[in-house]
Amino acid sequence: MTKRLYYNSSEIYEFDSVIQDVVPASPEHPCPAVVLKETAFYPTSGGQVHDTGWLLLDGSECLRVAEVADAEDGRVVHYLEAPARLPVAGASVHGRIDAERRRDHMQQHSGQHVLSAAFIELYQMPTVSFHMGEDYCSLDLATPTVSSEQIAGAERLANQIVFENRPVRIRYVSRAEAEKLGLRKLPPAERDELRLIEVADFDVSACGGTHVSASGQIGSILLRKTEKVRQGTRVEFVCGERAVRMARRDYIALSEAAALFSAQLWDVPEQIRKSVEESKQVRRQKDGVLDELAEVMALAALHNQPETNGRKIVVRVFSDRDIGFAKLFAQKVTRTATSAIALVASTVDPAGIVFAQSPGGPADMGGLLKQVLSSVGGRGGGSRDFAQGGVPAGSHVNVEQLLRQAAGTIEA
Ligand SMILES: [Zn+2]
Repeated sequence: MTKRLYYNSSEIYEFDSVIQDVVPASPEHPCPAVVLKETAFYPTSGGQVHDTGWLLLDGSECLRVAEVADAEDGRVVHYLEAPARLPVAGASVHGRIDAERRRDHMQQHSGQHVLSAAFIELYQMPTVSFHMGEDYCSLDLATPTVSSEQIAGAERLANQIVFENRPVRIRYVSRAEAEKLGLRKLPPAERDELRLIEVADFDVSACGGTHVSASGQIGSILLRKTEKVRQGTRVEFVCGERAVRMARRDYIALSEAAALFSAQLWDVPEQIRKSVEESKQVRRQKDGVLDELAEVMALAALHNQPETNGRKIVVRVFSDRDIGFAKLFAQKVTRTATSAIALVASTVDPAGIVFAQSPGGPADMGGLLKQVLSSVGGRGGGSRDFAQGGVPAGSHVNVEQLLRQAAGTIEA
């Protein structure tokens, strides 16, 4: 088993050790790895993400530790980023942990202890799991719902514990002793000795992770989104510098939104509500105007079109109005006159063709459209009274000519 230096102090960022074993790259693990006699590198476990850092060999060679994992036999495996040549067992190394990354993990992980205890203390909501992501962390509470008041309440208490800068101690006790202490969380019965993390007079839990030594180092705890999950409710949060970074990002986004509205930050939601309502109204007005326009244009088209065999065939290609308007125009033509056919198209992207006749008319629009389009490789179809389709994108078909050809077929 590797001796774990972080067990007794989370603030060891540099250490000396000896390489015990070298594991060459394999199909399972494309990176080679080393096992050390002792290490301060934390391997991924208990929701906390692994450390990264460097191993300096005698001379000047520097190996990058990209990932650290727990092996089943109790050894800590350090995966290396493609070294020029593999070190050998027995060589001395000087380990250096990426301290900034470790401190961030300590802030997030210790913050989780405090937050989980706050949810228990205030609302008897136990934490069932914890996840540390690149951007934010989350914990799952065994409860179907958490109200926004409860979120604010837990955040307030957790930050109060931070501000009081309570000592965070590591101690080892027997299982029997631990059972008497009333731990927030007792691990499954595997080991006789348990490592306890105690936030003075607030929380005691068994944990193998790295933690701050006083709650003030957590900096601050900011709760964010909640979400329903299978095992309860997920609460997203960030601690320490992440909380500041995220608040800054939110502020920039909100400021940009406020500037667009020439409003104060806190007026943005109201401005958005107003704006959404206005655009709905404008859309309704626009729809009304287009409907009237289509009707007037349909009337004019019918007026100008002479009758052939007791009906009027209106052919029209719109290059400045979309297919929605073309359809509206066709409907107006065929519903205004008792016996009319509208063969219309729009060349505005996405282009399309609509064939329509007054309800119950003698022609077959679906059949006619299919027939006309098949000659140019287009697709479309519909019922006897209404059909729509289009020519292949990018083809240079003369749509007006196509419509005239369809009109000729009906007249014949
Ligand atoms: Zn912990």
